[in-house]
Amino acid sequence: MHASVCEFIPTKRGTYKLRVGNATFWCGTGVFNPGQVNKVTNWYCSKKKTRKCKVVSRTLAGHLLDVSGEHTH
Ligand SMILES: [Zn+2]
Repeated sequence: MHASVCEFIPTKRGTYKLRVGNATFWCGTGVFNPGQVNKVTNWYCSKKKTRKCKVVSRTLAGHLLDVSGEHTH
């Protein structure tokens, strides 16, 4: 499935997580406002540890660049 729409969701810690389709991703670099970052940001699937999921997505200035890998869940 090719996902082209992403959504940034604020967390209680002041950071953001990313939602692409049914999956959520945690930011790898602790970006506080990913929609205004003018460099590529990597996001790791929230099930990375619990489900050994290796899917990584990348955003640039608030837009989804790509999603690599397939979810294990
Ligand atoms: Zn996943």
